[in-house]
Amino acid sequence: MAERQTMVKEQKPTEEEKRPKEDKLTKEQREAARALIEQIDQSTSPFQTVEYAKKELEKAGFAALSLQEKWEIRPGGRYYVPAYDRTLLAFTVGERRAVRHGIRMAMAHTDSPCFKVKPSPEMTTHGCRKLNVEPYGGMIRNTWMDRPLSLAGKVALRGETPFEPRTVLVDFRRPVLIIPNLAIHMNRKVNEGVSLDPQKDMLPLADLAGEEVEEEFFLRMLAAEAGCEAEDILDYEMFLYPCEKGAFVGFEETMVSCPRLDNITSVRACVQGLVKARRDEGLNVIALFDNEEVGSESKQGAASMLLPFLLERVYAALGGSRTELLSDLFDGFFLSLDVAHAVHPNAPEKADPINHPVMGGGVTIKSSASQSYAGDCETVAIVEELCRRASVPFQRFVNHSSQRGGGTQASVASAALPMRTMDVGIAILAMHSARELMGAADQLAMEKLVEQLFAQKD
Ligand SMILES: [Zn+2]
Repeated sequence: MAERQTMVKEQKPTEEEKRPKEDKLTKEQREAARALIEQIDQSTSPFQTVEYAKKELEKAGFAALSLQEKWEIRPGGRYYVPAYDRTLLAFTVGERRAVRHGIRMAMAHTDSPCFKVKPSPEMTTHGCRKLNVEPYGGMIRNTWMDRPLSLAGKVALRGETPFEPRTVLVDFRRPVLIIPNLAIHMNRKVNEGVSLDPQKDMLPLADLAGEEVEEEFFLRMLAAEAGCEAEDILDYEMFLYPCEKGAFVGFEETMVSCPRLDNITSVRACVQGLVKARRDEGLNVIALFDNEEVGSESKQGAASMLLPFLLERVYAALGGSRTELLSDLFDGFFLSLDVAHAVHPNAPEKADPINHPVMGGGVTIKSSASQSYAGDCETVAIVEELCRRASVPFQRFVNHSSQRGGGTQASVASAALPMRTMDVGIAILAMHSARELMGAADQLAMEKLVEQLFAQKD
């Protein structure tokens, strides 16, 4: 064997030489990933996620419709419909004809696992102010330790009448909380795995208490941020979020490490696909639902009647009958977007021996015999063909047969709206960690698939 020679470069590399060569990602792929990081930085709770999506749609000429009012819908029109500030529906109407010419839909969820502040949350003990919080969804708990955390959500204020409380969206946008680990010296077995009790071990610290004990420090801070008086706050839904921004990772920046990839990757793909696609007939619809991480069974979740109601109202406004709508459903196609599991290079045995997607491999098509993912052979065929036409790579995911795996809102939604539905997503690592990991190229692939779905002629 030849002896290996170590070459020592005499001069230090210039900044230009150090910068990663962009050949691993195209300019367009890099730009899509960069825009995703920006969107996630603003999409801090379902309320802020919907706000951001609304702004993107408005920029693209979409007009707001209210669920409480009568709708005037014209051919070629573009509309969005917010529901309870945390769920968003949007649609475009074919210029030439809409009814009887194809319903195409895409769906994603606006929520991510996190902690939610409880009522009267203030606790002062051992020189510190703490907040009483409860887990929302199933997160990898230890990833929330020792991270700067912020708070975002919605506050309900006293209004003119009991039925019309005023509401304000609030996002602190700075580190205000932290959950410190116990030192290794007090927990010698920490590296053998540690169980964290959310009621005891995971209450975030909010400040040093100083001398005086102030009972309502949280309400005071919340009022200051919301621009109101503390006594006007009747209730709130405030969620903790990790506030460090996402970043490209890798010597050649081929990965993105970021909070809430589950599921803002999909939210962004739905919005971008709808905004960019043009189809002069039929109806293109996106639905961004809250509460997937807690089972979707709520008035703003995918199990609600919101989407069937929307379709009924759109058809009524366009002069289509209910019978026509019910017929069109069976010609339509519904794409459900949610992240998938990439094979973990340190634990490949957890994945299916054959169908294990990799990060950066394009769109992942998810199937399960148990129907925990929606789809059948026909819907797989449709997605594969759409991917080919959009020049988007795709890969398949099925669970390792001895792992239970997860489910998505697609099964719930497609039971209520019996359309041909397919579960797809971007394959990531560390799903439900405070910071997840994806291939940077995959965002563009996902966006292109949704665009193809909405642009493809029958
Ligand atoms: Zn998800």
